[in-house]
Amino acid sequence: MNKKDLKYFQNLLLKEKAKLTKGLNNLEHKIDTPSGSFAYPYHMADLGTETAEKEEESIIVTSIGDRLLLIDEAIEKIRSKTYGTCEKCGKRIERERLKVKPYAKLCVSCKEMEEKLATGR
Ligand SMILES: [Zn+2]
Repeated sequence: MNKKDLKYFQNLLLKEKAKLTKGLNNLEHKIDTPSGSFAYPYHMADLGTETAEKEEESIIVTSIGDRLLLIDEAIEKIRSKTYGTCEKCGKRIERERLKVKPYAKLCVSCKEMEEKLATGR
């Protein structure tokens, strides 16, 4: 990937990161203040209970947190110029895929394989 491309994807990643960080802050704020939660898109569950709602909500937080980690890793890869390479097969990740998901670590075929394995459980 040339410098211009790396710059382009770095911008995408930084934008995505800013967006997610903001979203995560909002979410944490909501969790801290459960009162009047009717306006929120998820239900506040009592801490320590294993309800479906609680699980759902932690999935939201985890997935944002996970994505932020992925974005940081991707930014790191841009710095070390290894960005855009599939971690599994070592091939280049499709540009179109990176435009949609700039923090993708796997190429489409490896990702599909992984998803098949995940849903097969
Ligand atoms: Zn691959």
